[in-house]
Amino acid sequence: MNVSPAGISAGLWALVREHAITRRRRLGDAVFAEIDGFAWVQGWEISRLGTGHRYRDPRFDRVAACRTCGGSGKGECGGACRTCKGDGLLNFVEAPAARHRV
Ligand SMILES: [Zn+2]
Repeated sequence: MNVSPAGISAGLWALVREHAITRRRRLGDAVFAEIDGFAWVQGWEISRLGTGHRYRDPRFDRVAACRTCGGSGKGECGGACRTCKGDGLLNFVEAPAARHRV
């Protein structure tokens, strides 16, 4: 087997690079472990972005701004919007009446 010095150098460089990537990922996992745990319990989506993590609550997929009031929640005479009951959002899964019960 013939290996040139350039080949050894390239192989060594690839090994060092892989080691650095692995260490950086482990450091990120350690730094974000508690936050990731909280997000996981809440049911949030977690995505890795380089050295950072992005969290997103999938419940935002269920809602949209009310078109009647433009998301303000205010109706025509200063009262609550009749479509969204003053929330400014429309929930496609849960009826507004269920959310207003206390
Ligand atoms: Zn509205």
